[in-house]
Amino acid sequence: MSALPFSIAGTRAKLGVLTAIVDALLALFFPPECPLCGRELGRDPGPRLCRACARRLERAERGCPRCGVPGPAAPCRRCALHPPPFRIARAVLVYRDGNEVAHAVQRWKYHRDEVMGRALTALFRDALASVAPGTWDWVVPVPSDPVRLRRRGFSPALALARALPGRLGSVAPGLLERRAGASQVGLGQKEREANTGAFAVAPGARIAGSRVLLVDDVFTTGATVVGCAAALRAARAAFVDVWTLAHTAPPGAARREALAEHAPTATSVRAPDRSGGSRDG
Ligand SMILES: [Zn+2]
Ligand SMILES: [Zn+2]
Repeated sequence: MSALPFSIAGTRAKLGVLTAIVDALLALFFPPECPLCGRELGRDPGPRLCRACARRLERAERGCPRCGVPGPAAPCRRCALHPPPFRIARAVLVYRDGNEVAHAVQRWKYHRDEVMGRALTALFRDALASVAPGTWDWVVPVPSDPVRLRRRGFSPALALARALPGRLGSVAPGLLERRAGASQVGLGQKEREANTGAFAVAPGARIAGSRVLLVDDVFTTGATVVGCAAALRAARAAFVDVWTLAHTAPPGAARREALAEHAPTATSVRAPDRSGGSRDG
């Protein structure tokens, strides 16, 4: 082969050094601030929140072992009734209306706060740091809704997928597609079955037997990740795991948890209401 790849690598290395110098100079004159509270972060200009804000973000520490819905560490009613097409779904944070996580995610997604985006994608990367290398073949971001993509100008799911180290799997943004009333004409029975739903595996993509990590920003009703995982499984992916930055708490969960804490004898706690939220699903 020619020496071209080496010269590209050399140029990239030089650009990398330049970027680092510019970043260091910027940090000297404009010390990095926590994107949530505005407090100065000190000398290390890593993409992050201050310690106090990072602590205030509600972590997804327990929930359904299958879908990860925040709550008791037991299979949720919905997974028991309708086992999802993914193996497991996990999230880093809990998204509740009005909590710091909701505030941070909204700042990133709807106000295009890039500093916040870098802090959140870094949190996501750190949360997956202990996953064994080679767990997945493909890291697939949930494809953006074209209208939202135009409005936002970026895909949060793709940003999260790209933040992950390559050893976890190759990022494959084009592997899944959103379908806009795709035609069933000319498809056989099997293909027709695989062709239902809002998502489809890109024509020609060979994922039979491969292990897929599906990435999205917020797991709300689960309809989106279920649709994506079903399409991947229909194309014979070996399994699909899901990681999202945040998982919404079921409506009323905070109230129920507070009640349970104060009245441990109460047993008539109703199953979470899973009516759809207004977020992306
Ligand atoms: Zn802060
Ligand atoms: Zn569940």
